[in-house]
Amino acid sequence: MAEELIISISGMRGIVGENLTPSIAAEFGCAFGTFLKSSAAVQNKTLAVCIGRDSRKSGPMLAAAVASGLCSTGIDVIDLGLIPTPSAGIMTRELNCCGAVVITASHNPIPYNGIKLLLSDGIAPPVNKAEQIKNIYLGKNFKFVVSNMCGSVVINTLAYETHVNKVLAIVNRGQIAAKKFKVVLDSVNGAGGPITKKLLAELGCETIAINDDPSGMFEHTPEPTADNLGSLCEVVQAKNVDIGFAQDPDADRLAVVDEQGNYIGEEYTLALAAKYILEKTPGAAAANLSTSRMIDDIAKKYNSSVIRTPVGEANVAQAMVTNQCVIGGEGNGGVIDLRVGPVRDSLVGIAIILNLMAETGKKISELVREIPCYYMKKYKCRADKRQAQRLFAAALEKFQGARINTQDGFRFDFADGWVHLRTSNTEPIVRIIVEAQSREAAEKYQKIIDDIQRDIT
Ligand code: MG
Repeated sequence: MAEELIISISGMRGIVGENLTPSIAAEFGCAFGTFLKSSAAVQNKTLAVCIGRDSRKSGPMLAAAVASGLCSTGIDVIDLGLIPTPSAGIMTRELNCCGAVVITASHNPIPYNGIKLLLSDGIAPPVNKAEQIKNIYLGKNFKFVVSNMCGSVVINTLAYETHVNKVLAIVNRGQIAAKKFKVVLDSVNGAGGPITKKLLAELGCETIAINDDPSGMFEHTPEPTADNLGSLCEVVQAKNVDIGFAQDPDADRLAVVDEQGNYIGEEYTLALAAKYILEKTPGAAAANLSTSRMIDDIAKKYNSSVIRTPVGEANVAQAMVTNQCVIGGEGNGGVIDLRVGPVRDSLVGIAIILNLMAETGKKISELVREIPCYYMKKYKCRADKRQAQRLFAAALEKFQGARINTQDGFRFDFADGWVHLRTSNTEPIVRIIVEAQSREAAEKYQKIIDDIQRDIT
């Protein structure tokens, strides 16, 4: 399995016992601590960092190692225990901390884990700051403190309650509870189970929870895509419930299954949330360039607009803060509502979608049918830097009539669809997303890209 340890904007990810070891985690903690102490961003912030982790068995080991590194640079650690990633962002702001660390490899399989960093605003560091942290880590330029200046670790168990209360505050709890919804929740043995059951109970739902034990032994492949949610669809169908929800292991992504047991697709999660929020709240939405055009249709209906950003949660969150967006997120099932926090949050998605159902009195399948339907295909091709540049140049040539956005690779928008081409920061590949109003149109655009690809490789 020998793979490289990946160090990117949002932290590091690797395979536990191979390239992600306690010594590496401790040094990453030292680097983050050194950065925070020297950073102007910590002014007026407590020199403390929240640490949370998803349910992987390697979580406590890595959390302890990172905490040790932070303490060695004079930073106090607030141990939040086993929590969803969004809870860490919320607690960081709530406790006025200078940053947070989440031990998670999100939707990756069990052997992986990762160390994700957030700054005091609850958002991942921007590129220049992430680069500084990486350089401190690689150069081992740590600033250790003397014995009596070392940080200490305290335990804080308020994350669930704080997070749930913040989510309840943005919806009409009585309206949802009156419906007594029956819900199936699949938390894939990740961090979402306990807190999401608490939220659903507060919303008066009858919950059938599957894979809710946060054991880290994922019962199925953890990414909440159609291929991995067959068991959830079966339970929804068999139990005659109103809706099914699936979370990824750190509970920032959400997928929905309708009352007939059909997997709806992660792109609809943000679209449904936007439908509810934009109808009642004036303001713009934000989404990354790879997100479905459904959100543009919904925004148009409610005289709103969509700000498009480069791919990456931090980019969307930052654009939302700058433009005071009322809703935002990513097409992979990540919904962000700044009233709760600037982090993708499956609990936010669940509460808003239930409120949409309660308020309209419509079934989830009916609500989905009201949103214009698109055909989307996501795939990737191998291409080194030079091949990627040739691919982009050829696409520019072919798609001359398109509206072009170059914030993150190239996105070409046409009347009936769009194509987004972008390179990966970690692998020699180009990611390709094609979406169109009809299957034929989507296939037409895909064929153009495939023909170019054949020519350049
Ligand atoms: Mg995740």
